[in-house]
Amino acid sequence: MIGAVDIGGTKIAVGMVDGNGRVLARTQAPTDPERYSEGIERIVKMLRETEQEAGAEITGIGIGSTGPVDPMRGEFGDVDFLPGWRGKSPVNDLARIFNVGVALENDGDAAALAEAGWGAGRNRTRLIYVTVGTGIGGGIVLDGKLYRGVDGAHPEIGHHVLDWSGPPCYCGARGCWECLASGPAMTAWMQAQDASRGRTPEQICELARGGEPLARRAVEREGFYIGLGVANLVNMFLPGEIALGGGVMKSADLFLDRIRQVVREICTQVPAEKTTIALASLGADTGLLGAARAWSHRSRR
Ligand SMILES: [Zn+2]
Repeated sequence: MIGAVDIGGTKIAVGMVDGNGRVLARTQAPTDPERYSEGIERIVKMLRETEQEAGAEITGIGIGSTGPVDPMRGEFGDVDFLPGWRGKSPVNDLARIFNVGVALENDGDAAALAEAGWGAGRNRTRLIYVTVGTGIGGGIVLDGKLYRGVDGAHPEIGHHVLDWSGPPCYCGARGCWECLASGPAMTAWMQAQDASRGRTPEQICELARGGEPLARRAVEREGFYIGLGVANLVNMFLPGEIALGGGVMKSADLFLDRIRQVVREICTQVPAEKTTIALASLGADTGLLGAARAWSHRSRR
């Protein structure tokens, strides 16, 4: 049984996952920018509680985390919501406390491993996971293995540039995929058309379903820009599957056809019809399953 730790900006989820990808017990706590030692203490307590509830012993621990992490050294980088964690190694500390192997991955990479192992991309050797929510991120699995950049660095697919005349991004570029197609980008576009309309992506989708013209344009634009980024991934990698997850994709029925249409129209120099573009299938369990999969992926080597 794998102890899974999913660290995000608002909550830390901990659970027990069996070898078939079933979550046997789970708990969560809000993420506080507290001292590292207190954070680790709390995670240890949550692991012990869920271990007891699941009634089996932990054989390994996987951690998936938002923000820059060094998967090879098992250390945290400059994670903005955990300022005291920089340079700390929960991998070493949890390994010492539980006396088991521990693996750490970026949560986009962890989610990609989960989808490839237990989700939409099962039996596909090449899968790209894309999450469209408050930002755009993801992970790339090739031949069943996580693709890593140099020194284990995590590639940022959300910051590939689609339109230099687009809005500026905090990364320094303009018109990144994330700036054009994330949930906040949808809200910003709507507001730019009509300043009185501060709407969340969910509200825009709801209005579009009711036929409201401006909301329908926002949805059409969103599908187009998600589609452009997906088309670039298809042209560059031609994976067997692109699995789309994240908050915006909860309204996938409004976007999927448009995304597939863009890919069909512009990916003419590759056999794009061989890439399945589908909704990620693990839903709310993605974080815990990804963390668990991060451990099994590492321990296989
Ligand atoms: Zn950017």
